[in-house]
Amino acid sequence: MGKRFDPGAQVGVVIVGAGPAGLVLGNLLLDRGVDCVILERRGREAVEGRARAGFLAAHSVRVLTENGLGAGVQARGRAHGTCLFRGDRGEFTLDYGRLGRGEEHTVYPQQELVRDLVAEYLRRGGELRFEAEAEEISGGRVRVRGGEEVTGRYVAGCDGPRGVARRALAARGTRTARWDHGVSWLAVLVAAPPSLAAVGYALHERGFAGHMARTESVTRYYLQCPRRTDPSAWSEERIWAELATRMRTAEFGPLHEGAVLERAVVDLRSDVLDTPGAGRLWLAGDAAGLISPSAAKGANLAVLQAELLARALDGALARGDERDLARYAADCLPRVWRAHEFSHWMSGLLHGPAEDDGAEARYGRALQYARLESLRTSRSHQDFFAENYTGI
Ligand SMILES: Cc1cc2nc3c(=O)[nH]c(=O)nc-3n(C[C@H](O)[C@H](O)[C@H](O)COP(=O)(O)OP(=O)(O)OC[C@H]3O[C@@H](n4cnc5c(N)ncnc54)[C@H](O)[C@@H]3O)c2cc1C
Repeated sequence: MGKRFDPGAQVGVVIVGAGPAGLVLGNLLLDRGVDCVILERRGREAVEGRARAGFLAAHSVRVLTENGLGAGVQARGRAHGTCLFRGDRGEFTLDYGRLGRGEEHTVYPQQELVRDLVAEYLRRGGELRFEAEAEEISGGRVRVRGGEEVTGRYVAGCDGPRGVARRALAARGTRTARWDHGVSWLAVLVAAPPSLAAVGYALHERGFAGHMARTESVTRYYLQCPRRTDPSAWSEERIWAELATRMRTAEFGPLHEGAVLERAVVDLRSDVLDTPGAGRLWLAGDAAGLISPSAAKGANLAVLQAELLARALDGALARGDERDLARYAADCLPRVWRAHEFSHWMSGLLHGPAEDDGAEARYGRALQYARLESLRTSRSHQDFFAENYTGI
C-alpha cells in the first residue's frame, strides 16, 4: 500500500498502529520530509470501519486543518456546543460553546477521520502495511509477524494500551499510574437520528445513560452496566426500555428509536505512563495513556500527542538533538494530566452509587447532586467546565 521501501534499509520512523495517533503522526512526518512506514495489525476495512470517538476539540480541528488534513472535517463535521443534564430534579442545558473560552466541539465520526487520514497519507507517498502485526520492538527494530524486521532510527508506538510498544517500554522500567473507575458502559450505536440537540447526560438511580450525536442518521448511546456484562445479553427491546427509563422519556419526551448497529462493553479505566518514551521508542495516543471515555478526550489527546511527537522526532532526526524528545515528555504530561483530572471529575459526576440504600450510597448520591447543582447555578463553575470540556 503506497510507496514500498527497501526491506534492508532503515527508515526515519517506524510507526506501529494506524489509529488517529499513528496516522496523524505519519502525515505530519511525511509533510516534514521524514520517511516513515506504518505497520497496522488489522486489515484496511476493519481499521476504516471502527466506530469509536465522535467529538473533536477545537485544538484537534486546528491541527488537522493547519496540516492539510481537515478537508473532511470541514466539509462534513458539525459544530456542537450544548450539553444537557437530566436527573430526578429536572434538566438543564449548558451552552458550553458560549462559556469559558467559547470553543465548540466538531462532531465527526472517528472512522471517517481515519479514512481521511489513510487516504492523505497514501496520497503523500507514505507506506502503510495492513495485516502487519508488530510482535516485538527492540531498539529501532520491529519484528513483524511472519519474521520480517523493519528498522527505523526511531519507533513510534501508536498501538493502543495493549500493544507491544508499552510492553517494550515497561521492560525498560517505565511505570504506570492507573485508576479503575469501577464502572462499565454498554456503548451502542443505533441507526436513528439524534434525539436531542445536545449531548445528553442522564443521572438515574439505575445508573448513567448518555446520548451523543454522530451523524444525521446514527446516534451513540451509553448505559452504565455492571462489570463483565455480556453485550449480547442486551436485546434491542431491553436497550430501548432502559434508555427510556434512565432518560426519563415519560417526563421529557421520547427517543428516536432505530436498529442497534453495534453494542460493546467498555470498562472505564484510565492510566498514564510516567514517561511516554525513552531512547529510540516513543509513544503517542492510548499507548502512552488510556483515558476513560467520560469526557470524550482520548482521540483528542491522540492528535495532540501526534502533533508534539512529530515536531520532536523531526528535530531529533534533523539535528541529532534528543532534547526535543525529552521536551515531548515535558510538554505532554501536564496536558494529559489536566485532561485526566477533568475526565475523573466527570466520571464522579455521572456515576452515582449502585442501587443500594446504605448510608454510603446515600452520601455518594447526595454528593453527585451537589456537584450537578453547583454546575447548574454557578457561572464560574460553568466557565471552568466549558474550558475543560472543550480544551486539550
Ligand atoms: C466507545 C468509545 C467512545 C469514544 N468516544 C470518544 C470521543 O467522543 N472523543 C474522543 O476524543 N475519544 C473518544 N474515545 C477514545 C478514542 O476512540 C481513542 O482514544 C482513540 O482511538 C485513540 O487513538 P490511538 O491511535 O491512540 O489508538 P487506536 O485508535 O486504538 O489505534 C491503535 C491501532 O494500533 C493497532 N495495533 C495494535 N497492536 C498492534 C500491533 N502489535 N501491531 C500493529 N498494529 C497494532 C490497532 O489495530 C489500532 O488500529 C472513545 C473510545 C471508545 C471505546
